[in-house]
Amino acid sequence: MVDSEKLMARLRYGGYTLLHDSNDTSAKIVIINTCGFIAGAKEESVNTILEFAEAKRRGDIEQLFVMGCLSERYKDDLRKEIEEVDDFFGVSSIDDILTAVGVPHVQVPRGERLLTTPKHYAYLKISEGCSRRCSYCAIPLIRGKHVSTPVEALVSEAQLLAQQGVKELLVVAQDATSYGVDLYGKRCLAALLAALSEVDGIEWIRLHYAYPAHFPDDVIEALRNNSKLCKYLDIPLQHVSDAVLKNMRRGINRRQTCELIGKLRSRVPGVALRTTLLVGHPGEDDAAFAELLDFVREVKFERLGVFTYSEEEGTYGARHFKDALGQEEKQRRADAVMKLQAGISASLNHAKIGKTLRVMLDRREGSGYAGRTEFDSPEVDGEVLIASEKPLTAGHFYSIQITAADEFDLYGELKITNS
Ligand code: SF4
Repeated sequence: MVDSEKLMARLRYGGYTLLHDSNDTSAKIVIINTCGFIAGAKEESVNTILEFAEAKRRGDIEQLFVMGCLSERYKDDLRKEIEEVDDFFGVSSIDDILTAVGVPHVQVPRGERLLTTPKHYAYLKISEGCSRRCSYCAIPLIRGKHVSTPVEALVSEAQLLAQQGVKELLVVAQDATSYGVDLYGKRCLAALLAALSEVDGIEWIRLHYAYPAHFPDDVIEALRNNSKLCKYLDIPLQHVSDAVLKNMRRGINRRQTCELIGKLRSRVPGVALRTTLLVGHPGEDDAAFAELLDFVREVKFERLGVFTYSEEEGTYGARHFKDALGQEEKQRRADAVMKLQAGISASLNHAKIGKTLRVMLDRREGSGYAGRTEFDSPEVDGEVLIASEKPLTAGHFYSIQITAADEFDLYGELKITNS
């Protein structure tokens, strides 16, 4: 999304009118930014390309370009298979795309983006690539080694975003925990978060994709003490069984994982933990899967997502393991985890009934409004659905009394207007 937004800003400077993810059929040129992470994402990307290839065949659009991870990895194959696409580009090809659509290479302010999110929040990508080698993951093969953006450049980008009305920064990277190692010779995520929290206008900073092994203590302290940091951590654990974690090459075991969670829960009271798990990895026998279910039951993550393993060519997993489990069994395991999580999520949500929470309003929703607390990230987490006679404004904070809850969302009423 951030890459698309940077490209869109350059295209706008070049005189184009931009539509994002739109059903508006007036578009003459379509650029598809693809994902190539796992089987499901690849399939979705290919289906989108085919849909627009058909539109080009019908004459509805004039030009079709494809960029991003899938294109980086498979452009030669795709070029042969889908002739309607005018050209395929990789992950760092903004200049080439501008040339292809005839836009002069104008200079734009560093970090300039055309936001596709509501104007009060934006993603901030702090580094690119990943130097780890998790067995199942093709991202380092696609995006290359971990390269951090300097603190000053990120602070300027955050200032630019704040001037456009952004109040919430969603910090993303393939491996946020390693921020700074390549540039400064040490991990500097806590220092970066401190610098970002000084930016005028930024009220919430939310940390995504924090790799768990050797998790920095200073980031835990920052989560505890810095009031601009949401009490929220997206920490992808993938598994808990020692044998599976070893096969996954995650550099962490069960004991260290449990110690880290204990430390986060005790040092950052009230923190909402989001994790992602990967089921069906080679080595995950019935006992290892049962161990994973027990772990989910014990920890009670506030948010949780599950992927099923798919063998990705070129990865350590593809070279060293046999992908023995069928897709049906992998999906059964994923469904079992999500069913368990649904009950946990419902009971955690119900415990919030009667409380008054600070909510950032995102949008109108039906006859009311939808917003989020600091414990919820957009798109992936729950929302607070608000009934209010009084008109409310997107991007403002409100005190909302929670009156009901379900597995996903909270329901509430306006209590006192804050800002
Ligand atoms: S840390 Fe994340 S991006 Fe890097 S190799 Fe592991 S799963 Fe892939």
